[in-house]
Amino acid sequence: MCDSSSSTVSSSSPRSTKTINSDLSPMSSKEESMHDTGKNPNSDAAAPGAKQNQVGTVMLFGVPIVSLVMDGKERLCLAQISSTLLKDFSYNEIHNRRVALGINCVQCTPVQLEILRRAGAMPVTSRRCGMITRREAERLCKSFLGDHAPPQLPENFAFDVYHECGWGCRGSFVPSRYNSSRAKCIRCSFCQLFFSPNKFIFHSHRLPESRYVQPDAANFNSWRRHMKLCGDPPEEV
Ligand SMILES: [Zn+2]
Ligand SMILES: [Zn+2]
Repeated sequence: MCDSSSSTVSSSSPRSTKTINSDLSPMSSKEESMHDTGKNPNSDAAAPGAKQNQVGTVMLFGVPIVSLVMDGKERLCLAQISSTLLKDFSYNEIHNRRVALGINCVQCTPVQLEILRRAGAMPVTSRRCGMITRREAERLCKSFLGDHAPPQLPENFAFDVYHECGWGCRGSFVPSRYNSSRAKCIRCSFCQLFFSPNKFIFHSHRLPESRYVQPDAANFNSWRRHMKLCGDPPEEV
């Protein structure tokens, strides 16, 4: 039973389990991403355990873009990218550049379209939406923005936000901490604890001047509608 000689042989000849990684081979790159741990920021693989149609947020050149898990990959809404980062370019320019870069657009289903609308990624009038991976989105935007891409913000940069749900609260939004939709990137001005945007809009302190507003619990992912920037003029995040 205990065959020491054969175990010596097998341990001295480790088998290579490396897979070939090539952009020309979509099968192997998909295989690779399926086994990815999700820790690589350049990977398109969704976080482990991410469910089909799971909504998230990805920072693309400093702009939060809605993401959706489609067949194990995190994809971004091209319409939203076009109307934000690439708003200075025409539909045809963006379309032609995408084709030239060999970026394939995956159309979302009607159900996914509705999810994207509710997440605020696109206007309700849109009938269809193409989805591209994060790496493709970075390539596309970089080809347009090039060196004009907004510079990285300093690590300690923060801006003040507030919400009026419950008793309301004020806090400091730290963009460098915002690397996922669940990132604890807002520090409460009263208790100094950090919260994710979705948690922060349900966090409040009762102060003498507070006015209670029933929180809209049904729309847990709608923090953008509830979070406001401090200062003048009032603006939504
Ligand atoms: Zn607090
Ligand atoms: Zn609210």
